[in-house]
Amino acid sequence: MPRKTPEKLIDENGTRLDGRTLNQLRPSKIEVGILANADGSAYIEQGKNKILAAVYGPRELHPKHLALPDRALLQCRYHMAPFSVQERKSPAPSRREIELSKVLREALEPSIFVEYYPRTSIDVFIEVLQADGGTRCAGITVASLALADAGIPMRDLVVACSAGKVDGHLVLDLTDIEDKGGTADLPLALMPNLSAITLLQMDGDLTVDEFEQVLNLAVEGCKQLHVFQKEALKAKYVAVKEAVEEE
Ligand code: ADP
Repeated sequence: MPRKTPEKLIDENGTRLDGRTLNQLRPSKIEVGILANADGSAYIEQGKNKILAAVYGPRELHPKHLALPDRALLQCRYHMAPFSVQERKSPAPSRREIELSKVLREALEPSIFVEYYPRTSIDVFIEVLQADGGTRCAGITVASLALADAGIPMRDLVVACSAGKVDGHLVLDLTDIEDKGGTADLPLALMPNLSAITLLQMDGDLTVDEFEQVLNLAVEGCKQLHVFQKEALKAKYVAVKEAVEEE
């Protein structure tokens, strides 16, 4: 049964359907290094989104003619599981998934010292197990951690978050229902220590003033998420240290 969009997504007190305030992120849970057979991996829950990222590489590239003489080829696959959305989705890659794979690759590549590994491939797999809006952003946040976990030299982590306009209010971190029922959505990816934006998209209508406010909201959201990202990365190494000390 298709879900009906309620008439009001935000009440007169500025409270959203899931109880959040306008500038509040969804609760998140992040874990790093959870897959034994990948070189690096991470998992994120952001609200109802559940996304797994795995990284292989740098490794030999096949077919060889794709190899780049001066840097590693970053390959990204964003994929939604058939059970990730309300109506079963075909497991075959859709146009949207092909486009998002490119968008994610371009958002992650500036953070990686690809020039250190000419002729190799770095492969990033992003598996959306459950989707509820903002999966490209949560996918970037978790993929960046998987790259760090694989020990790939990076300039900075990349963290991403969206902001937009819903029922006339400017809001942070839109859910699926807010995305569909809202009037604008702006996904942003940031390298926080370098203050460099690696992804900026916008869907919908905003005035120039609103655009600036929404951009700032998304930047603030990224900065908050970056704290959780760093904690998750540190937690993995604390766990490794404790395991070594116990041996
Ligand atoms: P993002 O997930 O980055 O916001 P979109 O704006 O394209 O990307 O999608 C918004 C949301 O729409 C997704 O997070 C997901 O909840 C939902 N969605 C995407 N593709 C499908 C699909 N094939 N069937 C049902 N819902 C979908």
